[in-house]
This record gives sequence, C-alpha cells and structure tokens, in this order.
Amino acid sequence: MQDLRINEKRLWDTLMEMGDIGGTEKGGCNRLAGTDLDKQSRDLFVSWCKACGCNVEVDKIGNIFARRPGKYNDLPAVGTGSHLDTQPTGGKFDGVFGVLSGVEVLRTLHDNNIETPTAMEFSVWTNEEGSRFQPAMQGSGTYVGRFDLETELNKTDVNGIRLGDELERIGYLGEMELGSRNMGAFFEAHIEQGPILEDEKKAIGIVRLGQGIRWYNIEVIGRPSHSGTTPMHLRKDAMLAAASIVTEMNAIALRHENGLGTVGFMQVWPNSRNTIPGNVKFSADLRNPRPDILLTMHEELIAFCEKIAKEHDLDVNIDPFWYFAPVEFNASDDVKAATEKLGYSHMDIYAGAGHDACYMADLVPTGMIFTPCLNGISHNEAEYSSPEECAAGANVLLHTMLEASERIAKEHQ
Ligand SMILES: [Zn+2]
Repeated sequence: MQDLRINEKRLWDTLMEMGDIGGTEKGGCNRLAGTDLDKQSRDLFVSWCKACGCNVEVDKIGNIFARRPGKYNDLPAVGTGSHLDTQPTGGKFDGVFGVLSGVEVLRTLHDNNIETPTAMEFSVWTNEEGSRFQPAMQGSGTYVGRFDLETELNKTDVNGIRLGDELERIGYLGEMELGSRNMGAFFEAHIEQGPILEDEKKAIGIVRLGQGIRWYNIEVIGRPSHSGTTPMHLRKDAMLAAASIVTEMNAIALRHENGLGTVGFMQVWPNSRNTIPGNVKFSADLRNPRPDILLTMHEELIAFCEKIAKEHDLDVNIDPFWYFAPVEFNASDDVKAATEKLGYSHMDIYAGAGHDACYMADLVPTGMIFTPCLNGISHNEAEYSSPEECAAGANVLLHTMLEASERIAKEHQ
C-alpha cells in the first residue's frame, strides 16, 4: 500500500477530457450549473464511477454520491468531492481537479483490487460557483442544513428559470434525503487559487482553516449644502467621513496578521458636483482566518465609526448583517500524515475562498488539500496547474483517504 501511486497521465487526460465540455477558445471552461453542459459533465463522472463498480445516488438538491464498498460497510465511509460547475470565464481546474482526483483515486483502488477498511465515497456538489444561481456552495450548504431545500430549489437565474426545474430537466433531481450519507471523514483536493504555494515552492498546502468573513452596510448621514458658499468649518460632509472609514478599513487589515479589508460598493447622495454629499452608503468586508482577530478587527471598525461620527458631528450607522465563522478543518492531520509519508514539500495554509468542504465540516471531520496554480490565477480561463502538481495532490488524496479509512476502522473495533 505504501508504494501505491495514482496514474499521472490518466489523471491529466481525464482533466482535459472533462475540460472539453464547455471548453472555451482561450483554454478555459464555461459550464454553468444546471445547463446541458453540466449534465454532460455529470453523466461522464457517473459513467466513470459505474465503470469502477460504484453504486451512484443523487440527493434532493442534485448532489451525486458514488460509493465503492469496503470491508466493513456498516462503518462510516471516507468521502471526497468537489464541483464540476465553473464560472462563465472559468478554468479547467477549479473544483474539477477535486472531483477528478477522486475519480483517479477510485480507479487506482479498482485497478489494484484494493479492499479498503471502510467504503469510499466520491461526490459532485451542485452549483458551488454561485454564478447562475445564488448563493455559492448551494448544494453542500443545503446538504448540511444551512439552507432550506424548497427555498433553494425555487431560486431562479436571470431568465427566471428555477434551479429545481433545471435539475429535473437534466435528470439530476434525486430522491435521496439530504445529509443522509454515512460518512466519517471528508476530504477535498483543490487548486489554491492564490500565489502562496508557488511563492513558497511547496507542493502541498495542508488547509487548517477557512477564513471568517464579516459583512457590513454603513451609512453616513451628514448635511447636503452648497460647495461654494459653505465654509469648511461648518460642513457635515458625509463623503469626507466615509473616506476616513474606507482608509481605516485598509489600516485595520494591515494592522492584523492575515487581515483583509475591502469597500467595494458605494452610493453617494445627491451625487452632484457642487453639493456637499449629505448621505453616503457603502459596503464593508473584513476577513481573517482567526475568529479572535476577526472580532478585534470588528470592534476596531465599530469604535472608529463612533469616533468619526463625533469628530465630524454627523451620524454613522453600521449594520453588521452577516458573519461567516472561520472553519476549522479537523481532519488536517490525516492530510499531513499522508503528505509526509509521500515526501512532498508542504506548508500549513488557510482557505481564502469558500469551498464545499467548509460546509461539510459542519457534519464530519474534514480536511482540504491545496495544490499550486500558475501565478495564483483562478476564476479565469488562464487557470493552470501542471500534470505533476495535479498528480501530487491526487496522491496525497489517495493516501489521506486510506489513512482515514484505517483510522475509522480502528476507532470502531
Ligand atoms: Zn472551487
């Protein structure tokens, strides 16, 4: 078992074959959730899994689960999976690499007639990208119970077409109950989508955390007045106060390790050249992988808004309407053990983007395996990971799943 390796060329050919479905001229992929192209990619995945003897089931939000039996089939299985849908100008690797690494693990176990202690599960999650239907990670979020099934099936695209109708049309509106798979661990291999592994020259990122997010709506209420007749000391300039807060968002992010701060949306009223702005509404987005640091960043933003309101003698209303808690990946040690056994260079890392594994961590011990991608580019047709980089990730996935399967069998003896 120690010497077992995936087939690099087969993995690469599989990635390229899948990439042809919705393939773009610039070498990327356009395969939106619930489309005919989504159906083609799902059908191909299902046919590959069935060819290796898997039993395939589909749940009520269209997530696909292919199960390869093991020795003790009453024990919780070890799962892996990701998504096959892409952005409209997406690449061939985001999500797809995770699904097809799973297929490659499956084929490697099948070809070598390996009986694993527990069953192994290979999954495809519906609409991870959130491009055609919102939100992102819709299939996994609904599976774990974060979202209501009916609400999600009723979501429509820009043309008013329901997700539920599209899933039915393409043959992937299943009967299986949500959250019903008997899984003891879940792993997702994914390209990093950032530049860190490439910069640090590491083959594998052991993902310890998914970063937390806090979203705000901020409104500054000043007083509109004439820009030519109102002396500076008598102004209540909502834009000036807003600008200070925007600058402070940046400063807060820079003051804290791994902090990120963004203002990406702004409305100015009355938005007229010669009137001092009376009202400015804008978004704020703070992120950090550590909950305690993210809380400090939050408190600093609130305190700064109060200070600015006093200094400028105007009102600043801040509504912290969404908090996504940082995710801890509790099965990371399985990934680390496998990576070290295989001798790949590695580092601990955190996930900046959302992934299906972030939601699966609600239900089972979960781990993520990151591989480098060229120049850190993703959600772009130029997205690229080399055959060797992909193979390293799939080998780590293989041995991580074997490791976890043995551990689960031991725990239940
Ligand atoms: Zn993805």
